[in-house]
Amino acid sequence: MVIKLDKVLGLEDGEHEFNFETDAAGIGLDVKDFEGRPVFENPIMTDVLMTKTSHVYHIKIKSEAEIRSPCDRCLEEVNRSLESSLELVYTDLKNRAEWGDDGEGIRLIDVQRNDIILDKDVADMLLLDLPSKVLCREDCKGLCVQCGTNLNEETCEHQEAHFEEQ
Ligand SMILES: [Zn+2]
Ligand SMILES: [Zn+2]
Repeated sequence: MVIKLDKVLGLEDGEHEFNFETDAAGIGLDVKDFEGRPVFENPIMTDVLMTKTSHVYHIKIKSEAEIRSPCDRCLEEVNRSLESSLELVYTDLKNRAEWGDDGEGIRLIDVQRNDIILDKDVADMLLLDLPSKVLCREDCKGLCVQCGTNLNEETCEHQEAHFEEQ
């Protein structure tokens, strides 16, 4: 499965919309949690809006994914959606001098293949926006380090003893 804008050189000036439904592994998004289960749930929905002006192709990407991973404190599974966006600029002009003043960051379209493949950009974008900390709720009490009781649901003898000491 590929997120590919096909025959871009033949497109007329103006706005063009593309929609993709892909699975995470298909675009190289192979992230696993510490239990070895995939973090990204399928499908990943991606909307692409390309605005073509002569030789410049302005691309706005927006993806929505569902992610799941264990809470950092209590290990309960947490599901949430992740929305990510990115803008890219491509050109079909090989000669950099023709790009004008703001050629910085502009990518070159492979005119032989006549397409733009966005798999890696979408995968990198989602990876970058993946939360580094996952909590089921702000005040998650976590697990008792001694017996493993989920302290959001009940207290255990260790916690009570701990409280009495204070
Ligand atoms: Zn939790
Ligand atoms: Zn305990």
